Amino acid sequence: MAELEGFEFGKSDFVLLDEVTMEQFLENLKLRFEKGRIYTFIGEVVVSVNPYRQMDVYGKDAIDAYRGRELYENPPHLYAVADAAYKAMKRRAKDTCIVISGESGAGKTEASKYIMQYIAAITNPSQRAEVESVKNVLLKSNCVLEAFGNAKTNRNDNSSRFGKYMDINFNFNGDPTGGHINNYLLEKVGIIASSSDDRSCHRAVMGALKVIGFSEEEVSSVYKILSTILHLGNLHFETDGESVQVVGGDSVRHISELTDTEPESVNKALLYRTVATGGGEVIEKGHSEQEASYGRDAFAKALYERLFAWIVGRINSVIEVKNYNPALHGKNTVIGVLDIYGFEIFDNNSFEQFCINYCNEKLQQLFIELILRQEQEEYHREGITWQHIDYFNNQIIVDLVEQPHKGIISILDEACLTAGKVTDTVCLDSMNHKLGQHPHYTSRKLNPTDKSMEFHRHFRIRHYAGDVTYSVEGFLDKNKDPLFQDFKRLMYNSSDPVLKEMWPDGQLSITEVTKRPLTAATLFKNSIIALVDKLACKEPYYVRCIKPNEVKSPMLFDDARCRHQVAYLGLLENVRVRRAGFAYRQPYERFLQRYKMTCEYTWPNHLMSSDREAVEAIVVQHGFEGDVAYGHTKLFVRTPRSLFTLEQERAALI
Ligand code: ADP
Ligand code: MG
Repeated sequence: MAELEGFEFGKSDFVLLDEVTMEQFLENLKLRFEKGRIYTFIGEVVVSVNPYRQMDVYGKDAIDAYRGRELYENPPHLYAVADAAYKAMKRRAKDTCIVISGESGAGKTEASKYIMQYIAAITNPSQRAEVESVKNVLLKSNCVLEAFGNAKTNRNDNSSRFGKYMDINFNFNGDPTGGHINNYLLEKVGIIASSSDDRSCHRAVMGALKVIGFSEEEVSSVYKILSTILHLGNLHFETDGESVQVVGGDSVRHISELTDTEPESVNKALLYRTVATGGGEVIEKGHSEQEASYGRDAFAKALYERLFAWIVGRINSVIEVKNYNPALHGKNTVIGVLDIYGFEIFDNNSFEQFCINYCNEKLQQLFIELILRQEQEEYHREGITWQHIDYFNNQIIVDLVEQPHKGIISILDEACLTAGKVTDTVCLDSMNHKLGQHPHYTSRKLNPTDKSMEFHRHFRIRHYAGDVTYSVEGFLDKNKDPLFQDFKRLMYNSSDPVLKEMWPDGQLSITEVTKRPLTAATLFKNSIIALVDKLACKEPYYVRCIKPNEVKSPMLFDDARCRHQVAYLGLLENVRVRRAGFAYRQPYERFLQRYKMTCEYTWPNHLMSSDREAVEAIVVQHGFEGDVAYGHTKLFVRTPRSLFTLEQERAALI
């Protein structure tokens, strides 16, 4: 809870708004942004607005000011949250996590860097060399992954990576001992193409890889794979009506050299696929021009995906905790830092938005569970009777998407497994049929007043954060694993050991490939469920990032854009949940310090037997007994109104 500084900088905590409306929320956010206050609390959650300029709030002084202090003792800041997470971890041996969400460009990665830097700055006071080296590698590996991710996204604002989760492990001293990174990728169709910009960026990554400890040979393999991807983007296909040919200069030769394979094999994998007939016979089938293009794109994406996964795996092997003996070293605790896209809604929403928004439903569900649990635990610690909190439980939307046999993902998968040509619209029909009655699903087709064909390709989900209309076009293609076994085998047969290692499934012959690969949506669902499981056992802290404008301006607060983000980050709901219980709480001693001058029995000093009694005297004098509860160490205040009264009176007296 933020200290109640004067309101000239706006309210430092949104729970203090007179009313929880979008207008008041935005007004406060804007005022603070304009006054250079980029951070604001919602209880323990930090809302951050990207300042698009260097702020003088991250230096050593700031670190010292936040170190070991309580959340409400200083103005809102990332450091306050980082410190709270660290303190809980160290004092109460709790695993904690910091969830940073917001749209692309909102400042998530910067925030995660400041948080990591803060943690690095406050740990290992005795400067032990082995801890320093762990910290160094953790910070560096973060940079490598960022650089690598950015190299890919230069050409496209919508990067393929939408999330990164990093665990930092600590020993009983509270010093970092290692970590682990998970990446969340969502491949987007059509982003593989060559560009000289990309190339120069890739070269920066190479240097960083060496710093982390990649061998010359490994770095060279990485470089060759990236070049292969670029060359794949340079080739296309032509047909004379009979057979299909590769066009694109020397691309095939380059690719074969880069991947250490035979040019004929590359050519063949691009143009043919091996299929097993019903009778167990194996034949080669030529691609159509379109199939060949699809195959090439799928291959390029798979190369990138596996390369990225391999790099992450190598980094993890460098940073993993080594030689930790719990019997000797005590409990190994963790702070997880999640940097992930928030709710997305564009003019045209497709499979990617569907996945990201489903992920956000899951995180919202977790948020509700954890925040409520946290509240419950605090009430329990303080000996306060549990108060029911009224909130919207979005489990029903989560179920709509992920429920086995009934949910959208199941229906999609079923359509992908059905033999023959099931189109996106046929799949949509099936969804409409099965989900048409669901309160959070609307079939646009069933809207009798709308005869436009456009709507026949859309469905709408009523998300917790608002309605989103998705275009079903491309859903099936994006959901299938379109990679032909021939490419996997080609890579497995490479003489480059690093490349070969990335394609173990290439050793299967076509007759052995019986199991259908999991679909993209199911893989995605599994990874999100695993992520949520990881977070669920930790005490959560949240940072919500907002991009104030589209032009990277430090001056401009674009109302419409901000309104949109506040809505889709569920911030109003967040304030409501927070205010539904006790919006405000403070240890008796601090409360007394701040407000003792407003009451004759406590000014300048009280003569009561405890601070708690003195606080009661203040509360009674101002007549809001009905609005508070007394905990063992803290006063709990239900509505902010009571505090306004006190603040006003205090302001009048000083
Ligand atoms: P995201 O990870 O959410 O896509 P980034 O963290 O990469 O966004 O931020 C995008 C850009 O915005 C950064 O490169 C930086 O220029 C600017 N920015 C973000 N946060 C800050 C900050 N706290 N101070 C100064 N500039 C920032
Ligand atoms: Mg980022």
